[in-house]
Parts: sequence; C-alpha cells; structure tokens
Amino acid sequence: MRRPALTLLAASLMLVYGFAGATDAPTTIPAAAVQTAEQLRDKALHDDTAYTTVEALTTEIGSRLAGGVNDQRAREWAIARFKALGFDKVYTEPVTYPLWVRRSEHGAIVAPFPQPLTLTALGYSPGTPKGGLTAEVMPFASLDALKAADPATVKGKIVYIGFRMHRTKDGRDYDLGSGIRMQGPVVAMGKGAAGFLLRSAGTDASSRTPHTGLTGFTDPAKSIPAAALSNPDADQLERVLAYGKPVTVKLDLDCGIEGQYTGYNVIGDLVGRKYPDQVVAIGGHLDSWDPGTGAIDDGAGVAIALGAAKLIHDLPQRPDRTVRVIAFANEEMGLWGGRAYADKHAAAVGSFQLGSESDLGAAPVWQMSASVKPQARGAIEQIAKVLQPIGVAYDAKQPGGGGSDLSQMHRKGMAALTLAQDATYYFDWHHTANDTLDKIDPKQLAQNVAVYAVFSYMAAQADGDFGSAPGAFAHDGAEE
Ligand code: ZN
Ligand code: ZN
Repeated sequence: MRRPALTLLAASLMLVYGFAGATDAPTTIPAAAVQTAEQLRDKALHDDTAYTTVEALTTEIGSRLAGGVNDQRAREWAIARFKALGFDKVYTEPVTYPLWVRRSEHGAIVAPFPQPLTLTALGYSPGTPKGGLTAEVMPFASLDALKAADPATVKGKIVYIGFRMHRTKDGRDYDLGSGIRMQGPVVAMGKGAAGFLLRSAGTDASSRTPHTGLTGFTDPAKSIPAAALSNPDADQLERVLAYGKPVTVKLDLDCGIEGQYTGYNVIGDLVGRKYPDQVVAIGGHLDSWDPGTGAIDDGAGVAIALGAAKLIHDLPQRPDRTVRVIAFANEEMGLWGGRAYADKHAAAVGSFQLGSESDLGAAPVWQMSASVKPQARGAIEQIAKVLQPIGVAYDAKQPGGGGSDLSQMHRKGMAALTLAQDATYYFDWHHTANDTLDKIDPKQLAQNVAVYAVFSYMAAQADGDFGSAPGAFAHDGAEE
C-alpha cells in the first residue's frame, strides 16, 4: 500500500504546486551545517561583539534623528565598524525623504489651573504659530470615539485622546497606541481641529518622559500641531478635565518639514562561497528618535545583526550563500530605508534566500514564525530545533513578516521570519529620553545574536530555497 499512497501524494502535490521539478524537492539543511549552527549558538552566548557595538554607537554618536546632525556621523561610524568587523564588501545605497526638524516644544494648561505640561512633538508635526496655539481641549477615550464625533464639537479645539497602553510580552497594545498616534492627528485635522494631543503610546505609568513617534501626516499643507503628553501629565490633564469646566491648553512647538534629505542604507556582505548572488538578509535600523541615545530602538538591532555576522565571518570558510547586514536609514519616519531598499531590489527578490530584521529591543527572542514555501517547512523546523534550547518556541501557524524595514522586501516576495522578542518592558522606554544603554542586558542581547547567527547560517547552507519569488507571500497575513 505504501508505494501507491506515495504516488497519489506526489500527484496531488503536482496539482497544488504545479509540475514537479528539482525546486519542488524539500529544502533541507545538511547535518554538518546543523552542527556548525549549534556551535555558533553556543559561542554567541559568550560573545560581546554586539554589546560593545551598541555601547560604542550610543556613546560615540548618541541619538540619530534621520537627517539630523548625527545622521552623517552615524553613517560614517557604521561604515567604519562594518569594515573593522571584516565584511568582504561594505557599501551604501541612497534614501531620500522629507527632512523633519525639531527645535523646541512647550505646553501648558492655561485655564482653569495654569501649569506647565511635559510633552513632545510628533514626527511630521508642523510648528505652532509664533506665540503658540491656545485652544480649548476636547477629550476622547478612543480613536473610534473621535471618528464618531460631530465635527462641530471638534472645530478649532485641541483634540486629546487618553488611551492607556498596558505591558504584555507581545507588546500588542502598541498597535492601538501607535494607531492613535498615526491616525488621530489626521482624523482630528479632518474635523477641523486646531491641534492634537495624546497620552503617550508607552507603558511606563509614572515616568515624566513623553514618547515621541510618527504621525500619519503626509502633506505639510494638511497637518496640525501634534504632540504626546507623558503619562503623569496625561493623568493631570484628565484630573483637570474632570472638574467639568472648559480646559484651555497652550501648545508652543517649533518644528516642521524643511525640504528633502538624502541619507544612506549601510550594507555589509559576507560573500557566499558557492552562490554569491543568493542572499540571507538581516539587519536593524541605524536612525533613532532624538530624545534618547537609540540603544533599544534600534542600536540593538544593528548590533545583533553585526554580532551574528561576525561569528559567521570567523568560521574557517564563508557559507555557501551571502550573509548581508543592512543598517537601514530612517525607519522611524516611515520605513524610508526599507522602502528604498525594496524598490531597488524588487526584481531580484527571488535571490533573497530568507530575511529578518531585529527592531523590538534587546530582550530575548521567545517565538519564531515563518512565511516560506511548504517544501521549506522542514528546514524551518530544523532551525527551530537548534533554537529551542535557548528559549525560542516555533509557531507554525503564524506568518513571518521580516521585521520593520525588511517587511518591505517580504511584501515583494522574500521568504521571511518573525523573531519575536519579549516586549514586556520595551514600551516603557521606547521613543523616550530613557532609551539608553542601561536598558540592555548583555546576556539577553547575546541570546538574540545566537538566534540570528543560527538562522542566517542555516539558511545560507540549505540545500534548496525557501520560496522567495515576486509576490510569493502576498496574502500571508504578516502585517509588519
Ligand atoms: Zn525601531
Ligand atoms: Zn522606533
């Protein structure tokens, strides 16, 4: 019975996946590569390349607002670092975007109880008129409540949304918090509001540090001043509102878009021995918001990828395929580096073996999921087996989105992983002055390096591919 059953299975596979050929053979990872990957994993746990990298980046450069004073310094720093780590090729690719500048930001309750407010302007917010913008506050509990509001109740006012994020391992509340930050200002403007405030999209309850981040504004001519209050300041505003009297707030923001800027993605290749044109892509984004030093977002991501590549570099010989580290430009203001990269390389997406970017801090990876062709599931399970002893669970049901910037290559058809980090505390510090090196535990960072070294190496050594092709994963549900 066995033989006919296999024939039937083969026939049905041919129906589902087209004519059977060499590419329909299951992708596997040779035993020798699995063994080397286990050694890489164990070595990574005691390697400090990633930590010393993020330490140097945040100490020697600090904050890296896209197009700001540190943009070029950070890029030159990254090029020098890539070269020092021994990449075979180090190069850059241009990324052009609107230049947003932040100069100063102040806020205050004017009436009924005058007092200052701690706030920060949001990305692409225009400045207020000279002398500031003073208007009555119109509060809402949610974005939906604002969407449902009669424009007459909003016109000329400063809209405030008070949604509070809570800590979870998967950071799911950020979808809601960042959704309010992105869409809230646009919806408020559409209803004729004069300004927009939100409770910071962050999970710290008692730190007077507002969380900055992007708005959904795309046209400077169609935007209103928008800012985030720290959580304690949002509490205070809500207490004042609870008196039931009209509350007037003054915003004084000096910021806005000033022309265009051309930055660069910084790229390093360990050139593959057998298939130099086939690429495993890993990375992080080099830019950060300006209040902190960009340690967890996303100095850690760049450092994790560099640390992983360094371990692979130090092997006796290069892997079969190229391992590429990309330090993306301007992720924060709208995935500009990722979109530029995907536009440039879309036609070659089939030569991207597998990819994933680290951009959720420096706490351990706890879950892996993948978007790959069915014949490569076995290879993903082989990777999962090497990662299981260091605390990574494999969820075979979820798609893999590739992370922030590399999500754009995934959208073009690159096979991708999602390597979910523990986000429990990430949003306490994210996009604030508290995004500093002390938030990174070197041991946890090293676990991340182990994960990236293992999957990059195993993908680079695989017999077969993971299914990258133009449009291959168009409706896999990966949202990043
Ligand atoms: Zn980031
Ligand atoms: Zn960020």
